[in-house]
Amino acid sequence: MESTGVNKEEQKKTVQKTTSKKTPQKAATKKTVQKRTVSQSTAQKAGKSRKKTSIKQKRKTRRMVISIRLGIVLLAVFFALLIVIKIVKPSLLAKNYFEMKGEKVDASKPDIDVELLTVNPYSRPGTETSKIKGIVVHYTANPGATAIANRNYFEGLKDSHLTKTSSNFIVGLDGEIVQCVPTWEVAYASNDRNIDTVSIECCHPDESGEFLEDTYQSMVQLCAWLCLKFDLSEKDIIRHYDVTGKNCPKYFVEDEKAWENFHKDVKKALKKAK
Ligand SMILES: [Zn+2]
Repeated sequence: MESTGVNKEEQKKTVQKTTSKKTPQKAATKKTVQKRTVSQSTAQKAGKSRKKTSIKQKRKTRRMVISIRLGIVLLAVFFALLIVIKIVKPSLLAKNYFEMKGEKVDASKPDIDVELLTVNPYSRPGTETSKIKGIVVHYTANPGATAIANRNYFEGLKDSHLTKTSSNFIVGLDGEIVQCVPTWEVAYASNDRNIDTVSIECCHPDESGEFLEDTYQSMVQLCAWLCLKFDLSEKDIIRHYDVTGKNCPKYFVEDEKAWENFHKDVKKALKKAK
């Protein structure tokens, strides 16, 4: 009986031991489970945050792609505009002296007697012009004098030193055109605008300053050609009067209607040439 009791006791102990042995195992399992659950939830969280990050990255990439595409489109538009400007209004892009070339320019060129002056400080300084932005019309204020006589007067200034004056072109009484200074060089005619304009002196038979028909027609033709050559319009043709207020060319200052008509005639000639 006793042994049974002992046995029972031992059994109890064994049971207790086993229980006590089992409990830490259970605890460990619990802990592992807990750990697993924690690690699972951490993993879930990490997964979620990874998902969030990847969504954010995807958005970022998408935004970058959109920006790059937009940039490419804007660049394409910019270059397309440049090409259009280069075709329609090439002078807009030019910074320095610029001439249009081509058949139309050549075809509308009037006959010009090129009698360039000697380079000298009084009538042909040899200074380069900048981009040509206008054409300035003058009258010689020297009634009855021919174009070549006026040109020779400019040439003589290198010796006489009387004054500093000249002009790129002179239109004569018979409509002849004499060139004294290249268009890419400054002539002394239009004060502050010598640097960015081409000047035309026009001969007249008397004090009224009115031009003869032949002179007038050559003036129109020369102005239209210069407009084409420098990509200008008739609105860019101005009088010396518009630069300094001087009564030059007398006839076009005193008769605004005549000046208006001159612009209209150049416009017509330009239309024909284009
Ligand atoms: Zn003048």
